Amino acid sequence: MGKKVFVLAELREGTLRNVSFEAIAAGKQIAEGGEIIALLIGNSVQAHTQELIAYGSNRVITIESDQLKHYTSDGYSQCLLTAIEKEQPDALIMGHTAIGKDLSPKIANRLNVGLISDITAIEKTDNQWSFIRPIYSGKAFERKKLVEDFIFLTLRPNNIEPIEKDDSRSGTVTALDIEINDIALTIKEVIRKASDGVDLAEAKVVVAGGRGVKSAEGFKPLQELADVLGGAVGASRGACDADYCDYSLQIGQTGKVVTPDLYIACGISGAIQHLAGMSNSKTIVAINKDPEANIFQVADYGIVGDLFEVVPLLTEEFKKIKA
Ligand code: FAD
Repeated sequence: MGKKVFVLAELREGTLRNVSFEAIAAGKQIAEGGEIIALLIGNSVQAHTQELIAYGSNRVITIESDQLKHYTSDGYSQCLLTAIEKEQPDALIMGHTAIGKDLSPKIANRLNVGLISDITAIEKTDNQWSFIRPIYSGKAFERKKLVEDFIFLTLRPNNIEPIEKDDSRSGTVTALDIEINDIALTIKEVIRKASDGVDLAEAKVVVAGGRGVKSAEGFKPLQELADVLGGAVGASRGACDADYCDYSLQIGQTGKVVTPDLYIACGISGAIQHLAGMSNSKTIVAINKDPEANIFQVADYGIVGDLFEVVPLLTEEFKKIKA
């Protein structure tokens, strides 16, 4: 018999995050013909239920309250634990996002189950599931198995292809009424520091700048290239420390971990702490004046040159291709 898999769907500024669709695809593998139930939590979420079904959810459970307008671990954990108690799923998958990273240990603790976080792939050998996750800052991968029957995972964005969207898919939507109480945190306002563009953690293309960009102004050509490619701008800590950009753009060991299809590193030396956040990108292009720069060790394509000459040329060429 197939498994019943819960997937936590995540909204970001009124749009479902792609990792929610990737988690549905991961859930389908584990469910083996069973049921995928997406949980959609917020203050007004009905408009998004059909999209979750189109991406492969069999059911969507909505939990709505004004107290759920913003994410809080107290509010979301009450919703999840109540839904789990009611439905008794065999598995729970959420994105390895800021929300997933905050919520998952709390849920694992409350349920007293194991959690495998930051997985990038799922395999089945000898009739047992194993889950692949990067270790040592992405230099190696480990294969983990759960001893319990309950499967609890967080999924790194951009690693599992969503199922093709099909608007003709049908499914059921049910509302779960929960009395939310004991939210210790009151969020009065959310002020976004990063640009409103493509979400860095989920972007298929990342154009990242380092200290070689030299100023905040120097990031403009990188933004133009990212815009043409439909991507996001990221940065090294060197660039953030120099105040060329906000820390929310930092990629690396102490910043965000990204795995885009294309990573373009501009004026970044390739320190080990930076590589920790991007070395698992599918294709890496490095632009650096120094032919000995360490970033070329991990690059699939290297361009030795001045980024202020190379980046605008790339932008022009991509514009021509797109025209
Ligand atoms: P630099 O090392 O100064 O490199 C600048 C590069 O730009 C050089 O290679 C130079 O040749 C090139 N360049 C200059 N001008 C041009 C030009 N016009 N055209 C083309 N190329 C040019 N770093 C991170 O990035 N992320 C992290 O999460 C992170 N965490 C850290 C955690 C700890 C505990 C520590 C100790 C460090 C951490 N660091 C992190 C810092 C890291 O060690 C490096 O200092 C940092 O990554 C260097 O940034 P950079 O490559 O931009 O600068």
